[in-house]
Amino acid sequence: MIVGIDLGTTHSLVGRYGESGPELFRNALGEYLTPSVVSVGDDEQIIVGQAARDRLISHPALSVASFKRWMGASREVRLGTRSFRPEELSALVLRSLIADAEAALGEKVQEAVISVPAYFSDTQRKATRAAGELAGIRVERLINEPTAAALAYGLQERSDHSRVLVFDLGGGTFDVSILELFDGVIEVHASAGDNYLGGEDFLDLLQAACLAEHKLDAKSLAPQELGVLRRRLEAVKRELSQQGEVEFTCQLGEQTIAWKIDQDRFLQMADPLMQRMRAPLERAMRDAKLQPAQLDEIVLVGGASRMPLVSRLIARMFGKLPLRHVNPDQAIGLGACVAAGMKRRDAKLEEIVLTDVCPYTLGVEVGHRDAQGHVQSGLFSPLIQRNSVVPISREGTYGPMHERQATLMLNVYQGESPLVAHNIKLGQLEIPLNPTRPIGENQVSVRFTYDINGVLQVEATALSSEARYELVLEQNPGALSEAEIRARLAALSGLKIHPREKQENLALLARAERMYEEHLDARPLLQQWIMQFRQSLESQDERMIGEHRHNFVRAMDELEEQL
Ligand code: AMP
Repeated sequence: MIVGIDLGTTHSLVGRYGESGPELFRNALGEYLTPSVVSVGDDEQIIVGQAARDRLISHPALSVASFKRWMGASREVRLGTRSFRPEELSALVLRSLIADAEAALGEKVQEAVISVPAYFSDTQRKATRAAGELAGIRVERLINEPTAAALAYGLQERSDHSRVLVFDLGGGTFDVSILELFDGVIEVHASAGDNYLGGEDFLDLLQAACLAEHKLDAKSLAPQELGVLRRRLEAVKRELSQQGEVEFTCQLGEQTIAWKIDQDRFLQMADPLMQRMRAPLERAMRDAKLQPAQLDEIVLVGGASRMPLVSRLIARMFGKLPLRHVNPDQAIGLGACVAAGMKRRDAKLEEIVLTDVCPYTLGVEVGHRDAQGHVQSGLFSPLIQRNSVVPISREGTYGPMHERQATLMLNVYQGESPLVAHNIKLGQLEIPLNPTRPIGENQVSVRFTYDINGVLQVEATALSSEARYELVLEQNPGALSEAEIRARLAALSGLKIHPREKQENLALLARAERMYEEHLDARPLLQQWIMQFRQSLESQDERMIGEHRHNFVRAMDELEEQL
């Protein structure tokens, strides 16, 4: 079975293409959205999802969120006694999603289509594939998130030729794509974005303003207190999408803080972020050579696109209001399911050909000999231009700079600067030359092939000998090697994962412990409830546990309402 997965910064979704179209699966708690949060619990058990998100507050040192931001970076985070790479944390989220899919389907899931931001680099895409391998599935393909969004909106079914801008503001990433739709074909014409801009930055703004107003410093707060504040401000941010003014009070240690914020003030604070959002929008339009009036539709995706300031910015820039028939939190997940259906060659989708673009310019380092005969090295010679439709193959010819040069070092880069020093080095290939031949006969033909999965293949042929050399870009900084993946897979298989059937109980305890952290007044009561529920769990009497759980949920709902 093949599933579609949206592996998001704040939450993830899984589903499949069923009889009547894309359908999402619910997790063990009955929700479609699984928070992309991992926590290490008692007995070193791994906890994923809502319980882990509650534990960000009650057990901050044992819990981690937003790790999608570090995909492709060689960074580790320590949780208890063990360190985790971002690929491993993502793999734990994937495993949890797959368990939910398998529970819903009653069969094994072997393959998945996973969505990634259009702006993800090769290294980040490789890290996502590695996460899939670590989760024990074959990543059949990676699909760009905006392309998935278009599939979810059914835009491929339009009969007329149209141009669509997909505006995706998620928790941690911002993506803009311009799609062209014609004759059942979707073509991504341009993509731009910011890997470090999302809903969380707006939350950071609220946090900074609130702390400043109360003359508090984030560093002087305990991690628990900061967690409580952020959770409350997250609710404030969401309410601001519904109403003009929001008031709240929050208990920070001994101190009670009260704060009021209105839409105008929020808009003012957010102005620098709005300016940052403009840049990728303008760049994508420029790359696609489009004027605002030529856009037929604008589609909003990602939870943070619910903020009224987003529609405002769009109306100002493009003179029209965006479309929103699909839940912006689910659009990418549903689109990944459609893509999974395409993989299964579902007849209804056979018409569609997906074409994506290469997000960066790819090329090689060259030197230049000036009029005085001096060689200037470190110049970037592009072979595949940014935003070329993929798959794409381009060839160029390069030669030695000096007579009797024995080898040609082909340095492969990605980036937009004319100087390689400002671009990212992807790898190198050493090509032996024949030093007895003159420069003109020692040329090397270089072919770059960039495929739909963002994999770059470099082939070089020395024209003097016809010898062929190929480069496999596995030494990317931050990417795990095959051997490392195998080692990490073995280590992960030793981890104890919290059993799925006990997740409801766990989530309930995590929620109660989170509330215990947040509400000093309610502590004695909550402590008593937690102890009683733990005792009931120890009894292993499923009927009694079920009844107790039911009452506990009701009591906590009432308490939370009161507070
Ligand atoms: P995603 O990556 O799509 O899960 O994005 C989640 C982001 O959307 C988080 O930063 C949320 O704070 C934000 N978000 C969700 N709902 C709303 C809302 N109603 N108003 C403002 N932001 C929201």
